[in-house]
Amino acid sequence: MSASLDSAAPHTSADVAVETGPDGLGELCVLMKLGEIVLKGSNRHLFERRLQNNIRTAAKGLGEMKISQRKGVIMLRMPGASDLEVAELGERMCNVMGIVWVHLVRRVPKDVDAVTAVSLRAMAERTGTFAVRARRRDKRFPLSSFEIATHLGSAVREAHPHLTVRLKKPDNTLFVEVDKDEVFVFTDGMPGQGGLPAGMSGRALVLMSGGIDSPVAAHRMIRRGLRVDFLHFSGMPFTGPESIYKAYSLVRQLDRFQGNSRLYVIPFGKAQQQIKNSGVERLQIVAQRRLMLKTAEALADTLGGAALVTGDALGQVSSQTLTNITALDDSVDLPILRPLIGMDKTEIMDQARKIGTLAISELPDEDCCTMLTPRQVETAAKIEDLRQIEKRLDAAELAEHLASTVQLHRPSYFGSEETG
Ligand code: ATP
Ligand code: MG
Repeated sequence: MSASLDSAAPHTSADVAVETGPDGLGELCVLMKLGEIVLKGSNRHLFERRLQNNIRTAAKGLGEMKISQRKGVIMLRMPGASDLEVAELGERMCNVMGIVWVHLVRRVPKDVDAVTAVSLRAMAERTGTFAVRARRRDKRFPLSSFEIATHLGSAVREAHPHLTVRLKKPDNTLFVEVDKDEVFVFTDGMPGQGGLPAGMSGRALVLMSGGIDSPVAAHRMIRRGLRVDFLHFSGMPFTGPESIYKAYSLVRQLDRFQGNSRLYVIPFGKAQQQIKNSGVERLQIVAQRRLMLKTAEALADTLGGAALVTGDALGQVSSQTLTNITALDDSVDLPILRPLIGMDKTEIMDQARKIGTLAISELPDEDCCTMLTPRQVETAAKIEDLRQIEKRLDAAELAEHLASTVQLHRPSYFGSEETG
């Protein structure tokens, strides 16, 4: 049987010409399944454009790439690239927000013999049980999904008698998806990040310590469509630069999820000393955190950030009691997003491990917050007391001054130096 399966829809443009290549295997491409983005109605095009830009950013340096947007899926081709290069592209796509599944697929003409040949090759090295899952995004296709699956099921069994069919929980699954211009054949998939394309929900500033929590908080908010800038307060000149190196490595790691990341660093040691000298005692930590937030707000104003993000989790440390969190909220007008507020430390650590930040966070450093920690930390800070202290310090002006001492770094995972 070598009939074309789609006489109704001839191949349309040179861009989508489908060839099986010299080895007859079909071109290796990356096929990605989108999540919530498909549900977004009339705004869909804006989201698709944002996602495509983010895909391009993540693929920087890999060579020429063609993006083809379909309904609910995106296909990436790198004509002339090696299989290894396409695999690298697929791995990078696993970090692009808004993508639910990433598959390395063979792109095959809409011809039964070609699809069968590629399917047989795909299953050749497999053992155990298998199932075929077929679907048609092109409903004009003359064979039903069921007919495609049964045809390929018997062809595979005949060619590879050691494989047996099992429809529920098979060891191997052969996926065959009929699209407008081609058929995709593949066997495996890698889970993507899900969520929404970075930048779609606006911009925010993450307060980034060298600890475990704030990188996880940043990842969560990027995943919900924010593009984030990072702000780190070092204890300098009273501490070494180690905490800055940590913040830099953490942001570099997180850069895989949005690209073109920016890290702002502010030396905070002298301001901490000033707070201490004003006689705050047990309120030192909360007063410091309020000054950090005020400074972050001043910086966010210049960056166009519409929210601040912190890694606070309720009750995890003494500055994170409900009363103290309320006192922190009081220090700024911008909303403070705390995506980890209801999480246990073990859950946060699991997440940090998954996104590749845990090992960096666990490196030793001199955290500016612990530098001047009083023996007893206030767990029920009174907002009025804090406001009095800030009046004495002229905290508003101090925050403006601190924001003006900021240093910009660009920790880039893929080595690009572009402005974002
Ligand atoms: P983390 O693990 O993120 O450091 P933590 O559990 O140690 O959090 P705190 O030290 O009280 O808790 O910090 C709470 C939040 O305040 C952090 O998640 C971060 O958003 C912000 N923060 C703390 N220290 C700094 C710093 N040096 N620079 C910037 N932000 C900071
Ligand atoms: Mg900390």
